Amino acid sequence: MIEFRPITPHIWRLNLQWDLKIPFYPPIPVAVWLVKDADEWTLVDTGAPAHTSIMMESVSRFLGAAKPSRIVLTHAHYDHGGGLIGLSKQWGLPIWAHALEADFVAGANDYRKIDSQSAIYNLSKRILTPSVWRVPVARALNEGDKVSGMDVIHVPGHTPGMIALHHRADRAIICSDTFMNLGGKLSEPLAMSTPDPAEARRSMKKIAALDFDTLLPSHDPSERGASADSARRFASRF
Ligand SMILES: [Zn+2]
Ligand SMILES: [Zn+2]
Repeated sequence: MIEFRPITPHIWRLNLQWDLKIPFYPPIPVAVWLVKDADEWTLVDTGAPAHTSIMMESVSRFLGAAKPSRIVLTHAHYDHGGGLIGLSKQWGLPIWAHALEADFVAGANDYRKIDSQSAIYNLSKRILTPSVWRVPVARALNEGDKVSGMDVIHVPGHTPGMIALHHRADRAIICSDTFMNLGGKLSEPLAMSTPDPAEARRSMKKIAALDFDTLLPSHDPSERGASADSARRFASRF
């Protein structure tokens, strides 16, 4: 059974398998997080659309009669915002996302319209599944805002308004796609879905400079994340 598993004192992880449907590319894990603050819960990201029912069942099994107080979206890509429509319709949860990501959540903008210098992105964006959710953002977040005991860190490059969440008490950072941790080693976000790779590298360095012990990427079969040291070593090559 797919269950939320404890990662740090306040953070639980649900690991889903996402099939990108690219020839010879295996399914990759994608995380949905529950973060506890006093007696309320925040859901961070929602998996891909195909994960909606399994993700909602897992949340219900874990929280019982309680519901999360909100959804915080790290960014609105297909594999992170897929459950938004179901969750906002069925549970009426408010959606919080960075101010620069809000238009992609609400459907006023589309990642395929981003003006990019990256040849790989410009080739790929036509074949990538669009992620336009058409659900409103209840609260636009900005750098330094506090959410469920975590600091909002703006980490653009992979998308304009991607955020990481720094849980200072747990010394952990939910870093979304700033770093990936596939095959037991850190890597950059996928080039085919990253319109500004130079900015994405600056965001890696920004995270590496923070005070933490555990890096928690969304795409990470180990589930336990990576050490701050490995994140700093990886970011220092850029
Ligand atoms: Zn992404
Ligand atoms: Zn992703």
